[in-house]
Amino acid sequence: MAVLEIRDLHVTVETEAGQTPILNGVDLTVRTGETHAIMGPNGSGKSTLAYTIAGHPKYTVTSGSITLDGEDVLEMSVDERARAGLFLAMQYPVEIPGVTVTNFLRTAKTAIDGEAPAIRSWTKDVKESMKNLRMDPKFAQRNVNEGFSGGEKKRHEILQLELLKPAIAVLDETDSGLDVDALKIVSEGVNRAKDATDLGVLLITHYTRILRYIQPQFVHVMVAGRIVEEGGPELAERLENEGYDRFVDPAAPIE
Ligand code: ADP
Ligand code: MG
Ligand code: MG
Repeated sequence: MAVLEIRDLHVTVETEAGQTPILNGVDLTVRTGETHAIMGPNGSGKSTLAYTIAGHPKYTVTSGSITLDGEDVLEMSVDERARAGLFLAMQYPVEIPGVTVTNFLRTAKTAIDGEAPAIRSWTKDVKESMKNLRMDPKFAQRNVNEGFSGGEKKRHEILQLELLKPAIAVLDETDSGLDVDALKIVSEGVNRAKDATDLGVLLITHYTRILRYIQPQFVHVMVAGRIVEEGGPELAERLENEGYDRFVDPAAPIE
């Protein structure tokens, strides 16, 4: 059982104008076995939250805390966060020229577990996960994210999720740019990981579409760097019907 606790988190980002506040007091608790959705309009700070959890150097925590099982995540390096059980699937995964998918996965697995995986079972696991995600076996020899389509990048993120077996996964817009078939395949991968390891999921999305396939128990609405509304799955339905306008401007009429 792992618990990720975010308390009164304030984050700024370095811009030409200096340090600009993006998150203005975020509170959130995610436990293993739970699925949370953070929804919000573009620019509300969702990716900033994901990057801050992952330890991206561009984002500065000015106050508040993030802990995993009581340990201070903000004191951990990016690698230490991964070893502690945190995983981030990025909205815009980066290319790693010269590093093949297969080498990347094995290096990451070795770093996280502290020892190299047993070769036979590892090879089998990789093959099986790739098959489940409908990835061509040749894909394993390509360089990470180099020339990958949007859908391939997202599948590769979920491949990592399935193989690295984190305690808590932050999935930032894993649905963006996917057609319905790819969305189903990716969602099935997340659901397999949930079933296999009691994964805790923080699903970040602008659209409600993915929530038909990955069902959250908790829905949080983020606007302007704050969580302005929380509820169960019914809140996602409300957002689907009403949009974000009323949360952005409470005086706005219901459409
Ligand atoms: P979301 O993921 O909800 O669309 P983001 O966290 O990406 O929102 O962005 C929130 C706000 O912070 C936006 O106004 C965005 O322009 C700004 N921002 C985020 N990251 C950076 C960055 N690295 N440099 C400059 N501005 C940023
Ligand atoms: Mg965005
Ligand atoms: Mg984003």
